[in-house]
Amino acid sequence: GIKEYIKKTPKSKEFSEKSSLIMPGGVTANIKFFEPYPIVMEKGKGAYLFDLDGNEYVDYMLSYGALKLGHGHPKVLQAVQNQLQDEGTMLFGTPHKLEVEMGTKVMELYPSMERIRYTNSGTEATLLAIRLAYGYTGKYKIAKFEGHYHGGYDQVLQSVNPKVNDAGPANNPIGISESRGVDPYIAEQTIILPFNNLEATIEILTKWKDELAGVILEPIQGGFIPADQDFMDGLRKVTEELGILLIFDEVKTGFRISMGGAQQIYGIKPDITALGKVVGGGFPFGIVGGKKEVMDISAPSAFSDVFDSSQSKHSNAQDVLFHSGTYNGHPTILAAGLETIAVLETEIASVFENTEKLKKGIVELFASKSIRAQTIGIGSIFNVVITDLDEVKNYRDLQQSNFALRKEIDYHLLVEGIYMKPLNRYSLSTVHGETEINRTLEAYETVLNKLF
Ligand code: PMP
Repeated sequence: GIKEYIKKTPKSKEFSEKSSLIMPGGVTANIKFFEPYPIVMEKGKGAYLFDLDGNEYVDYMLSYGALKLGHGHPKVLQAVQNQLQDEGTMLFGTPHKLEVEMGTKVMELYPSMERIRYTNSGTEATLLAIRLAYGYTGKYKIAKFEGHYHGGYDQVLQSVNPKVNDAGPANNPIGISESRGVDPYIAEQTIILPFNNLEATIEILTKWKDELAGVILEPIQGGFIPADQDFMDGLRKVTEELGILLIFDEVKTGFRISMGGAQQIYGIKPDITALGKVVGGGFPFGIVGGKKEVMDISAPSAFSDVFDSSQSKHSNAQDVLFHSGTYNGHPTILAAGLETIAVLETEIASVFENTEKLKKGIVELFASKSIRAQTIGIGSIFNVVITDLDEVKNYRDLQQSNFALRKEIDYHLLVEGIYMKPLNRYSLSTVHGETEINRTLEAYETVLNKLF
């Protein structure tokens, strides 16, 4: 597939030769890179992307799941334009009415979020969630699950994609840092847990309970491997018993697998939730929320103390959990996000229906070639996993799948005009309809016929 890929994308190749003289690897986010060089897109419209060579693609990356209304949705564009024209490009450095409007909406859909704060990315949202857990409990270790991604900083850049041979026993994984330059002292403060293994998880949490501030997890690993209901119920119960906060990272699942995220589907109330991606309407954004008593430690002053700072509960600044940012609660982004939520409220069901059609079609095409493949996921996100296992429950199960074949298929699909970064997950939007799904299934058929 790579040969045909290179033939089809000469301008992307030329671009990457230049861009690597400007940016290491030619990219400004490592995730944008794939071998031999990434496609460079020029334009997006609805469900489609167009590259420098003028090739057209059905886009299933949707910017890592962020664009749930597709590219350039007219209502979002209009909301952003109105906001810019009415009030200017930027925030005023003061509170803003849209912060309250968005907050009200989010708290309605995510009842566990009794108070919220805004950030500028999903990474910042999980970072603040962890600081809140430290600040609230006075404990300074965090537990995360093997294979779960929460952003690129030291505390959580542990065992996201480790080599299984280096990573210790499945039921008691060793933490592996995923980058050079990660402070080994910080790395040691992160405890690694095995996903969907309740017994082992309870054992590790119990061992570290006096030092653990919180457990952070993707309730649906990578957006597609769901926690078992029993596992989730058990995790909620044990964290409560041990005095460890439960943090849901719903950056990927929020507004994508359901309006109310994984917590709605599982019927679980985490102590803290991080949101991002879809709710930013295509702009950099994150939201952190949780129990009032936890969130309120970031209040610079109790409301009643405003006029008498000497009486303030937080007269000593060090009693307050620090959270700031020049761009927090950016009105343009809030306008885009609110419009996105409004559209989704009427259209989300159809995205789920279309996703099911595509998933079913893909599995049938593999089956017609006697290949065992699964389309794993809930709502509008899934992964194509070629495996002989009956069920894929965690990171190590996934590592047993046939990545080589999947990758080969992905390069051929790129040539057929289906945009998926090799080995990534499929996300659908409100503008992926019958036409796009049929086109995708035809491309799959062509590719599988070519290979088998
Ligand atoms: N958490 C999860 C579950 C994510 O998928 C991501 C982004 N892929 C992040 C956190 C980090 O978000 P951002 O890229 O906006 O910093």
